[in-house]
Amino acid sequence: MNWSARTRAVNSGRLDGEGDPANVPITPASHLGLGYAREDATDTWRAFEAAVGDLEGGHATAFASGMGAVSAVFDLVPAGAEVVVPTDSYAGMRDTLNHAEASGRLRARRLDPRDVDGWLAAAGEADLLWLESPTNPSLVEMPIERIAAAAAASEDPPIVAVDNTFATPLGQQPLSLGADVVMHSATKLIGGHSDLLLGVTVAATERLAEGLRAARRRGGATPGALEAWLALRGMRTLPVRYAAVSATAADLAKRLGEHPAVVAVRYPSLGGGVVSFELTDAASADAFCTHLRLIRHATSLGGVESTVERRAALAGDSHVPAGLLRFSVGLEDPDDLWADITQALERLG
Ligand code: PLP
Repeated sequence: MNWSARTRAVNSGRLDGEGDPANVPITPASHLGLGYAREDATDTWRAFEAAVGDLEGGHATAFASGMGAVSAVFDLVPAGAEVVVPTDSYAGMRDTLNHAEASGRLRARRLDPRDVDGWLAAAGEADLLWLESPTNPSLVEMPIERIAAAAAASEDPPIVAVDNTFATPLGQQPLSLGADVVMHSATKLIGGHSDLLLGVTVAATERLAEGLRAARRRGGATPGALEAWLALRGMRTLPVRYAAVSATAADLAKRLGEHPAVVAVRYPSLGGGVVSFELTDAASADAFCTHLRLIRHATSLGGVESTVERRAALAGDSHVPAGLLRFSVGLEDPDDLWADITQALERLG
């Protein structure tokens, strides 16, 4: 049967033998007899990987964090390779590439995610195209399918990797759009409860998956047993959480767009739980954060609780407007969230 993503999120990665427990056990083991966990995998990681791999349509490998997964993807290309990244994208990923460039391991090229022609041209020249869509924090949607097609048509096709953290496999499946590797910070929507750090890659081919597992073996960014178990538990409700936060975020994006104190609103056409909006300047945005009573002034995103952060305050995101707030919408009542937003905006005077 062709079960839907919603059904598969609930059921994939479960044990199905007679008398098996409802949930895979947390296996706290560094070795499995003669097998060493870092070189192999425990049942708990495998169950999480089976579930994510099923939803993304490929071979999944879990890592200790999203950045562990990013580093493993960068490890797929040889020294001196050219990596193209969007100028607007997760700052930690760009920092890792800056470091690899400064130390001479990789060559970096930075392109505006809106510069489609630039990306199509780069597809014929680079070794690794790193896409993020929608981007963090400006929520730019990149044409994954067009860029992947251009990459596939080039003489020496680059690896096309997509950070799918914001869209989740419920919003889009980049492998089905032609990408080679998908990466997630499972810390965010997949885990969904702000109680863990975890990353995962999903490769289109077993050959690429083996490269990523080898990078995990060498780099050592193995997932913790509890984290993998919690992330799998979180994934069971990802479809309903994703639908709920998308509905609330779309509603709040509309209301924000109509508020006179809001300069601009960005919300992706594919949905998702993040809305970015601009107030006039840094001081107003900082004051807004301190006036909030319900929405937490906190970093990270994708939890059941709503959070907001002024991204230009961070060194890695100094390119975004000073008053831009990244708002991660949680599962609270949308009217309560709006009441909190309006009272905080009113107090700006
Ligand atoms: N990719 C995106 C889009 C992110 O937002 C983050 C973290 O904020 C990462 C990657 C890195 O993931 P982690 O914090 O789990 O290492």
